[in-house]
Amino acid sequence: MSVEAETQHQLNVIFLPYPAPGHMIPMVDTARLFAKHGVSVTIITTPANALNFQKTIDSDFNCGYHIRTRVLPFPAAQVGLPDGLENLKDATNLEIFEKVRLGILMIKDEIELLFQELQPDSLVTDMLLPWTVESAAKLGIPRLYYYSSSYFSTCAKYSIRKYQPHKGLVSDTHRFTIPGLPHNVEMTPLQLEDGLRIESSFTEFFDAVHESESRSYAALYNNFHELEGDYEQLYKSTVGKSWSVGPVSAWVYNDDERKTNRGHKEDLAQESEWLDWLNSKQNESVLYVSFGSLSRLPHSQLVELAHGLEHSGHSFIWVIRKNNESENVHSFLGEFEEKMKESKKGYIIWNWAPQLLILDHPAIGGFLTHCGWNSILESVSAGLPMITWPIFGEQFYNEKLVVDVLKIGVPVGAKENKLVATEEDAGVGREEIAKAVVHLMGKEESRDMRRRARKLSDAAKKSIEEGGSSYHNLIQLLDELKSLKITRALDTPLK
Ligand code: UDP
Repeated sequence: MSVEAETQHQLNVIFLPYPAPGHMIPMVDTARLFAKHGVSVTIITTPANALNFQKTIDSDFNCGYHIRTRVLPFPAAQVGLPDGLENLKDATNLEIFEKVRLGILMIKDEIELLFQELQPDSLVTDMLLPWTVESAAKLGIPRLYYYSSSYFSTCAKYSIRKYQPHKGLVSDTHRFTIPGLPHNVEMTPLQLEDGLRIESSFTEFFDAVHESESRSYAALYNNFHELEGDYEQLYKSTVGKSWSVGPVSAWVYNDDERKTNRGHKEDLAQESEWLDWLNSKQNESVLYVSFGSLSRLPHSQLVELAHGLEHSGHSFIWVIRKNNESENVHSFLGEFEEKMKESKKGYIIWNWAPQLLILDHPAIGGFLTHCGWNSILESVSAGLPMITWPIFGEQFYNEKLVVDVLKIGVPVGAKENKLVATEEDAGVGREEIAKAVVHLMGKEESRDMRRRARKLSDAAKKSIEEGGSSYHNLIQLLDELKSLKITRALDTPLK
């Protein structure tokens, strides 16, 4: 085929990520995968967000892949944010959170103009950008709804929205069974997200998200068939078409240098220190503790966690997001950090950790996680069992998947789904934390969980190799998008 003909047939896909690491990291990874499979890719973002991945994109471009970013200014001054604050990970309170959300909404028209200029064959846009389903309709092209979480969470949410099993219970802590699932899974109303349990400012927004999902051409999941095939099936029969093309991080990052360069490098802890510390530990003896990119625990909860970890007697490496608002936290944690340094029992990483590198280290034996989907997938890819401590959103469903369905996790006993917990909230006590750590890190108790986690890790690796399920899905998806492009071209009258 001539270069001209090849360009004509080449798919041109725009990716529009949402400015939060748990959304942006997997979408950029997926965009890179598309480019590596011959697609011409444009990622639309804002300046500070672009800094997190621009080098990687440039390096892919210099290797000959058709991938680039288009950067639009973020209206920081208009929404009342300092320059450079464009990502939800930097929101230390709800007010800032809302301003970042508003800023993205304010550049909708500029984004749509760029869609028109670039004339893509398809849009891959984050689930939290429901208006893009209209943009795709205007352009007459398919929108792929991008969701980096579990099929289980979507199926559970749809079932609860439809059947309302939580309504009419005598209290918010009574259990109900989620109807229509292949497994018997119980939850309490208190574990459901705002908007489902109680009307909130998010209710209307999430209604729009769900409506846009059903009107999209299909969904794209950072997932793999062998992990939750039952729920993938249920999704397809009840919600709609989807492709599972994950775990994308294991697929695009195949060497350590790239893993280190992934996202928010400027915040990275000094490598030699944490690595030396981990190198001094026995295999599978250290618990990795992280609550992802958004959650900041209240002071009283940090204190309980510190005591719980210490009392467990097991070694740990704990990532703490800095929260400038509380001096108190820093003096307590400062002393705790010193004490742990002396006893060599614990290592604290402030702000941002190279999570993929840490999880792959042989000294790591388990992951205490907030059940963000990327963290779960990364733990599964590394073959590690988990302690589950969900905080908000769909994380409570993900906990159920890990503990009740996959049986690779120990719940710490989190009771309430809340975006920002306060000092007054009950939280999880030090005894419960220590008990869960002892259970997971004790080799006898967790032997079966460990075996199952390793099996899933092998399946994850196979799924992204040539011939594997995710590999096959990606090729099939690209073929389908190409056919749609050709049909569109044939249907367009010649000028
Ligand atoms: N992450 C990281 N270092 C950190 C915190 C988070 O590399 O210190 C990455 C993590 O590996 C994952 C993403 O950020 O890919 C967080 O996504 P997840 O879905 O787990 O949680 P969220 O931050 O969305 O709550």
